[in-house]
Amino acid sequence: MNIAFIAHDRKKEEMVNFVLAYEAVFEGHTLYSTGTTGARIMEQTDLQIHRFMSGPLGGDQQIGALVAENEMDLIIFLRDPLMAQPHEPDIIALLRLCDVQGIPVATNIATGELLVKALQRGDFAWRELVHKYKPGE
Ligand code: PGA
Repeated sequence: MNIAFIAHDRKKEEMVNFVLAYEAVFEGHTLYSTGTTGARIMEQTDLQIHRFMSGPLGGDQQIGALVAENEMDLIIFLRDPLMAQPHEPDIIALLRLCDVQGIPVATNIATGELLVKALQRGDFAWRELVHKYKPGE
């Protein structure tokens, strides 16, 4: 599965702890992130992550491009609900595209845990079919 991690600044530590806790689950997947989030995760784990630009510089949009093509299977996006973000329009655009494609996206740790457990159980198998039978391929 293609999985993306994004965490706003005050959520980065929570993200690193979350990924550390489920490192064994994430290991077998293709991982993406915004710039600083991925750097922080790679510092603390043995995971390899394809890092896009930092969020405020367009990273959310780069992940959004994969969502638009229905390539992304799961997004863990720990947003900071208590601080305004300069790239709010990009955040809204990314979440909108997830809704367009029906991509599971967790915006807090509780939902993140549920989705990772679902991933562990094999509940994302339907996404394999999406990749296999993409229109036009
Ligand atoms: P970052 O981007 O991982 O580069 O910090 C995330 C964000 O703040 O949107």
